[in-house]
Amino acid sequence: MNESMPADLVSQSWTRPFHPPTSIPASAEVVIIGAGIIGISTAWFLAKQGVDVVVCEKGHIAGEQSGRNWGWVRQQGRDSREMPMIVESLRIWRGLEADIGEDVGFSEQGVLFAAATDKQVRQYCDWVETAREHGVDTRMLDAAELRRLVRGSTATWKGALYTASDGRAEPHKATAAIARAAVRGGASVLTACAVRGIDTSAGRVSAVVTEHGTIKAPLVLCAAGAWTSLFCRSLGITVPQLKVRGTVARTAPAENVCDSNLFDDRLAIRRRQDGGYTLANGLIFDHPITPSTFRFAAKFARALLMEPEAMRLSIGREFFEEWSMPERWPLDAVSPFERTRVLNPKPNPRVLKGIRRNVAAMFPQLAVAPIVETWAGMIETTPDVIPVIDEAEALPGFHIATGFSGHGFGIGPGAGKAIAGLLTGKDSGIDLEDFRLSRFFDGTPIRPQSSV
Ligand SMILES: Cc1cc2nc3c(=O)[nH]c(=O)nc-3n(C[C@H](O)[C@H](O)[C@H](O)COP(=O)(O)OP(=O)(O)OC[C@H]3O[C@@H](n4cnc5c(N)ncnc54)[C@H](O)[C@@H]3O)c2cc1C
Repeated sequence: MNESMPADLVSQSWTRPFHPPTSIPASAEVVIIGAGIIGISTAWFLAKQGVDVVVCEKGHIAGEQSGRNWGWVRQQGRDSREMPMIVESLRIWRGLEADIGEDVGFSEQGVLFAAATDKQVRQYCDWVETAREHGVDTRMLDAAELRRLVRGSTATWKGALYTASDGRAEPHKATAAIARAAVRGGASVLTACAVRGIDTSAGRVSAVVTEHGTIKAPLVLCAAGAWTSLFCRSLGITVPQLKVRGTVARTAPAENVCDSNLFDDRLAIRRRQDGGYTLANGLIFDHPITPSTFRFAAKFARALLMEPEAMRLSIGREFFEEWSMPERWPLDAVSPFERTRVLNPKPNPRVLKGIRRNVAAMFPQLAVAPIVETWAGMIETTPDVIPVIDEAEALPGFHIATGFSGHGFGIGPGAGKAIAGLLTGKDSGIDLEDFRLSRFFDGTPIRPQSSV
């Protein structure tokens, strides 16, 4: 294999050696917990405003969801409540490489949701109206137009929902590149530096306690992805959150069958910057049951039942791991966050088999390209499948940004700008009312509009 494209091209993001800090700052204006795309984008926007910000990451930058995703940057098919943020995010992505002077693999190649049935055509047509309301260029393509964009497929589609202004970026590059830009702007990004808990003073946040010492800060952002619910629970704050395993495969460079990212009931494919494809099955809802499944079942009922045919429930190691997880821990001893520096689920072999089978059935010319790498990631989601972005009412100064579901990579830069605004009190132009945590407890109807 070409040396510039190692077999562990993607997984290097989480398998390389850890680099703990040699020293940590005594204080900062803002400390961010988690160096995924959300924490890092927020740090970048704060640094640009001259805010003294430190990011603490227990493992690697983009070692969890942000380095493992499909790399789709899409407005298409979103919950209408996320639209202003994703439209702004796309605007940021378009200028990102010029802004930070680094390659993030972004290109605006469009997103296609292919429809195999009349029912799907009607569902997709409905979303065109949402796009129009937000000034997005989404339209329906008929089967002939779709065939011009997707070459050589054996599938018989009736048409597709198409957004030409959507795009893609490379997850193994993007977050790390934005992190370097944040550091050049004055931020500190500390890896192998787990935050164990929070210190308070006069009823508000006063510091974070890390495994390497304490950093005083009046403002803290918990952007801890799949760990947010556990972290917040230790502070007495309930964040309803469940996890779904996503299994992904990457091919060697292969014939170009489609420039756009293509989603079909059986297969999701994205052409990679290196000429290969990132492959997945987007309609498999692979949920390892844990005690949280029972704890939050009532709140998640609608989200879980949206696509019951897609549900694959299992019970195993994850149940007992969460069962044995303490709810609170001393801050002067090793915490659960150091025990699992990187959440690294195994790819589901049945899903991989299905991906191979569906590629062979739908794109015989791609089936000859070897699959060179496979991996999995735990996607975390909320009951209405849109994020929580809020200051905790019970703990002033403590902010939460989590639950970006299977679509937080694309919205990351837009969310970072909005969260930076929330932290500094400066208007980002993005209204965060729909993302308040209290919606899950104040009787607001829980209405997911899109799937995980
Ligand atoms: C398989 C898969 C496919 C996906 N496809 C897409 C896609 O195509 N497009 C899209 O837009 N989105 C996609 N997503 C979703 C997207 O990746 C996530 O929504 C997004 O990356 C979430 O970013 P984050 O920063 O919130 O979380 P993460 O990237 O998970 O980052 C959280 C970080 O916090 C750290 N952390 C946790 N606790 C602590 C602690 N106590 N101390 C210090 N650090 C801590 C973790 O180690 C982690 O690095 C996909 C996700 C997966 C898994």
